[in-house]
Amino acid sequence: MTKRKINIFGTTGSVGQSTLKVLRESKEAYEFVTFSAHNNVDQLIADCLEFRPRYANVGNEKYFWKLKNALSHTNIILSYGKRSLLDLASIKVDWSMSAIIGFAGVEVSLRCAEYSNVLALANKEALVCAGNLLLDICKTNDTKLIPVDSEHSAIFQCLEGERRKDLQSIILTASGGPFRDWSLKEMESATLKQALKHPNWSMGTRITIDSASMFNKALELIEAMHLFGLNFSEVKVIIHPQSIIHSMVNFNDGSTLAQLSLPDMKGPIGYALNYPKRLNIDLENIDFTKLGSLEFFEPDKKKFPALDIVEKVGKNLDLGVIFNAAKEIALDKFISGEIAFLKMADLIEKTLEESSLINNISAMSQNATGIKELDELTREFAKKLKF
Ligand code: MG
Repeated sequence: MTKRKINIFGTTGSVGQSTLKVLRESKEAYEFVTFSAHNNVDQLIADCLEFRPRYANVGNEKYFWKLKNALSHTNIILSYGKRSLLDLASIKVDWSMSAIIGFAGVEVSLRCAEYSNVLALANKEALVCAGNLLLDICKTNDTKLIPVDSEHSAIFQCLEGERRKDLQSIILTASGGPFRDWSLKEMESATLKQALKHPNWSMGTRITIDSASMFNKALELIEAMHLFGLNFSEVKVIIHPQSIIHSMVNFNDGSTLAQLSLPDMKGPIGYALNYPKRLNIDLENIDFTKLGSLEFFEPDKKKFPALDIVEKVGKNLDLGVIFNAAKEIALDKFISGEIAFLKMADLIEKTLEESSLINNISAMSQNATGIKELDELTREFAKKLKF
């Protein structure tokens, strides 16, 4: 049997490591082509020694010597930097996991859309910043795009075998994060440490803070609009603290389908890997007798202004690049202690109103170069804002 050729971009991040956990269970079935990391060279070395990919790339040049020293006795072909990474993403493979965090993952995702049979997409920015372009490339190259974020995987699963026109709306669930029960007053002085205490999911630093502020949910809402061809009015967010229902779909006949599983990224990753089959992965089914109650609440938009601000983007998806870049800068400023937790929203809102940025967005969002330029201009502008 021919082995499936597999890439994992962002191997050492949280999704990359969960991907390896799933793949480890049936390692013999795969041929590993490219593994990549940005800074975490030690983990990359360990993963390369275990899985023996054909290529390994480290983003940060200063770690290349370490990678080279550790792997010189193997025949793994080593490189560093973005240009080499994009070349590696242009090798024909069966399945690519695109799990690089942040805007850096956009170009890699676009390449995977061109050269992989299946693109398992965990990088959020590819859809938020380049959604139309990404979907076009997938269509032209007959690439199957399978979302890996738990919410979008849930919706994707609920829509399997359904007619698009029977779909009425979708409900994205949100845990509510660590500040769900806090007052607005308390949230004003929320610290980094408090924002990092996610109740259900263990994830990287930036996405955990984005979950606490619900900017992550705002990004997911934009992603869902692209992925499933929905209008802003067809996507709702509700708080579901237990993170058991990963999202739901409402149909015209009054039915709602939901996807439930324990909160573990191995679920959506395994689904994207084995689609359309559901092969055994090491993940327990829910024991409903032990589950207790499931709760649902309307989110408070005063506490989570992200859900208000996103409406503007939802009504003009080309604003996604500006929204995302402003959010990244706001996050940097919160992490460094320059601004308070709730001020992140003010910074993003202000940036979305800047005419020098929004004037020619529709022209700029047509290709990767324009998107990158707009991203850079937005960051420059947002960095200068003071709150
Ligand atoms: Mg999610």
